[in-house]
Amino acid sequence: MGTLSDVKKQDAEIFELIGEELARQRDGLEMIPSENFTSEAVMQASGSILTNKYSEGYPGHRYYGGNHVIDKIEALAVERAKKLFGVPYANVQPYSGSPANFEVYMAVCDPGDTIMGQNLSDGGHLTHGFKTSATGRFYKSIPYHVNKEGYIDIEEARSLAMQNKPRLIWVGSTAYTREFPFKEFSEIAEECGAYLAADISHISGLVVGGMHKSPKDYAHVVTTTTHKTLRGPRGAIIMVTEKGIRKDPELPEKIDKAVFPGMQGGPHDHIVAGIATALLEASTPEFKAYARQVVANSRALGNALSERGVRLVTGGTDNHMLLIDMTPFGVGMGVFGQEALEAAGITVNKNTIPGEPSSPFFPSGIRLGTPALTTRGMQEPEMEEIAGMISKIFSRINGYSLPQKKEGRSEYIESFRKDMRSDKEIAAVRERVLELCRRFPLYNKMAL
Ligand SMILES: *Cc1c(COP(=O)(O)O)cnc(C)c1O
Repeated sequence: MGTLSDVKKQDAEIFELIGEELARQRDGLEMIPSENFTSEAVMQASGSILTNKYSEGYPGHRYYGGNHVIDKIEALAVERAKKLFGVPYANVQPYSGSPANFEVYMAVCDPGDTIMGQNLSDGGHLTHGFKTSATGRFYKSIPYHVNKEGYIDIEEARSLAMQNKPRLIWVGSTAYTREFPFKEFSEIAEECGAYLAADISHISGLVVGGMHKSPKDYAHVVTTTTHKTLRGPRGAIIMVTEKGIRKDPELPEKIDKAVFPGMQGGPHDHIVAGIATALLEASTPEFKAYARQVVANSRALGNALSERGVRLVTGGTDNHMLLIDMTPFGVGMGVFGQEALEAAGITVNKNTIPGEPSSPFFPSGIRLGTPALTTRGMQEPEMEEIAGMISKIFSRINGYSLPQKKEGRSEYIESFRKDMRSDKEIAAVRERVLELCRRFPLYNKMAL
């Protein structure tokens, strides 16, 4: 890595487009909380010759020859995961977070079993039983919710669990800015006899960095993506805790079987190597400092936004993420905020808010976070500066509103986008974004 000279020679179009994307990543403020920038070491391992190998099975038990080196790589990744998360079992083969979660269902549920997860528009993930996901189609899904203040409604979750006796309960989600109540969920799971799976995809980097309570003493199974706060390549890990093994000594074996042959074929060995390297990085004091700064930045950004009158769901944050309530600008205004920020080079995503008054496609919130900016080296003073930019941009949204009729919406938003792109004040913020990005260079050794 560092050079793409062969891509340039052989495929000019893809070379151009990778260059365009590198420029976008370098010259913008990446504030989607599920994104991050891997180290060059992680990228090199993930882009290596290991992509050539087939290795269905597990170390020592493969369906193909020539796997003595791959065995060592996978065993190393597994050892590092176990040590870092403090668990007795880990599987590093899942292709990504969604298949990893489905593999957990396959390991502990039969089709048609009842399961529970956080409702999608309350911050939950698709794979926790949403109706359009395979998990919502093959299992009977009982969603729990957040209360008006935006916190998980534990009492509702408890009574739903007692009424419905789910086989599996998920805790952990994609749009939640507070500490997850692992202990309370472990009591609920124990009371109704369910397996408790903690999906720490968003926060795993904070967990290993000591900035969020670990689920290892509470959940039976833990899943995480590797490409979010953990800062690895795209992939996932499934873990079984001591508590999980006490509940079901065969759980590790069931997970292994669910991953392969249950759901997947050959593992992506280049990604497994990249995960191993990322886990090594995540075990350093530098990574602990990173995790601390991610949260400090998120809090600083939240405070600075609040001071400027921006409304935050739950009023603030405990983690890497903030959820902005855009309803003061009107119902369904998330997309307007997202488009206006994008015109200035600030990337966020529209998101539902608790009690969403609009719809998931035209939601009333914006989700943003600090993992990627912190990787670039930004700190509290920059968060203050960015909060100023965001509030300036929001002032340009005034006067617009989501058309009531669905028909006219896309034209209206297209014309709004044009307005934002020709807005002089937004252009001025775009200049400040570029200047800030140049102060915190990204992949500066990477020459195309
Ligand atoms: C991101 C995420 C996933 C899914 O990961 P993919 O790699 O996108 O499939 C699952 N659960 C949670 C909580 C997530 O945040």
